[in-house]
Amino acid sequence: MSNQVKSAAVIGAGAMGGGIAQVLSQAGIRVFLKDINEDFVSRGLANIKKMYDSRVAKEVLTREKADELFANIKGTTRYEDIDKDVDLVIEAASEVIDIKLDIFRTLDKHCGPNTILASNTSALSISQIASVTTRPERVLGIHFFNPAQAMKLVEVIPGVKTDKNVVQDIMDLCATKLGKAPVKVKECPGFLVNRILFPYMNEALYVLQEGKFSPEEIDQKALEFGLPMGPLTLFDLTGVDICAHVVDFLYSEYGPRFKPAELLLVMMEEKVLGQKTGAGFYVHSKDRDRDKNAAKEVNPKLAELLKKANAQVKDAPVSKADKFEVDRIMMPMFNEVMYALQEDVVAAKDVDTAVAFGLGLKRGILSLAKERGLETCLLQLEKYQSELGGNTPAAERFRPAWMLKKLVRAEVHDFDSLEEKCDKKEPVAAK
Ligand code: NAD
Repeated sequence: MSNQVKSAAVIGAGAMGGGIAQVLSQAGIRVFLKDINEDFVSRGLANIKKMYDSRVAKEVLTREKADELFANIKGTTRYEDIDKDVDLVIEAASEVIDIKLDIFRTLDKHCGPNTILASNTSALSISQIASVTTRPERVLGIHFFNPAQAMKLVEVIPGVKTDKNVVQDIMDLCATKLGKAPVKVKECPGFLVNRILFPYMNEALYVLQEGKFSPEEIDQKALEFGLPMGPLTLFDLTGVDICAHVVDFLYSEYGPRFKPAELLLVMMEEKVLGQKTGAGFYVHSKDRDRDKNAAKEVNPKLAELLKKANAQVKDAPVSKADKFEVDRIMMPMFNEVMYALQEDVVAAKDVDTAVAFGLGLKRGILSLAKERGLETCLLQLEKYQSELGGNTPAAERFRPAWMLKKLVRAEVHDFDSLEEKCDKKEPVAAK
């Protein structure tokens, strides 16, 4: 079907909707872009025009071609203007469940029975969204990353009732016509990338709270490991409030291993939210942030924030290590991948694609197993777990996924060797 998607609609002309509409239109697909009022539609179209202008400036497209592709997009505020037999609708409206349910009820009534309905939600339940339609088998998540026109990764998320062929059609569409790197991810809180990113981000805060290492030292180790930016810089750029919202959600769904560091709560209370408030872990100004060579300056208020956070730590054990190893923040990410594999959320072969194209970590994360062996990874996790008291709530952040233990007991060294020995079609996780 990938070549049969000739028309699509995007609901919501904000940051994500605009990027998605640009991607679809550049693939030669006719796009209806809907928002709730004319101003939002015009703003969305103007942003897409800028994306095309930048492609012309970079000589990726000629002016003529860019204008022709841009003309593929028709802005509207009315469902009636969207063709009833449009092949695909991608909803990228505000992240509020009632808004999304309302949109899907309306789309279900408006669109013909063959239309596939997708949501770009970051966290809401695809199955719940599908449940308000009469076609749950044709509803799924297509999770683009920000900016959608530039990021290659797309998580394709079937709901409980989604037809396998629909999933495959969308995987093909993303990979071929849209030029993306789609990864199939079973519906779970945080899907894959946010789920594995936040244990690492949160652990960086715990390390900082312990007071022995500076934000620069922590960020620098992450850069040396191969990430495009350190976790504390990423907090500042994304917004401490947005990150806190995600960690809170993951904590409510997965429990203690996602418990937010006290520092996150203090920063929320004090409204120290990163770039948007002029300071987070570092000081920000437009000029400073624009200048890639400018030295970073740690927020002078940080010491006071750390003091407040530590006053809330109470009796929780902290690590006594006086050397900061990058494993302290990378192993929680690795372990969360193990939990995801254990739950069959993703195929092992797709993990490093997701990490490379979603987080910019080109060396991958499962590559750690290949470089050092699963047994060494397990020992590292057990070491950190024991430093935090073994069976304390804090130590849950490092409790190894049982699948990791199982593989080590089976003397499996890494995932490549496992795939070589076994039928590759078999999922790695036990049933
Ligand atoms: P945004 O606030 O920039 O845009 C949302 C747009 O939806 C607004 O223009 C709003 O007017 C419009 N809208 C609200 N109700 C509508 C309705 N009933 N019909 C049509 N339009 C409606 O938000 P965003 O950042 O583009 O996020 C959109 C979706 O994408 C959310 O579900 C979000 O979780 C998800 N997402 C966001 C990011 C990100 O980094 N921003 C990344 C991945 C996924």
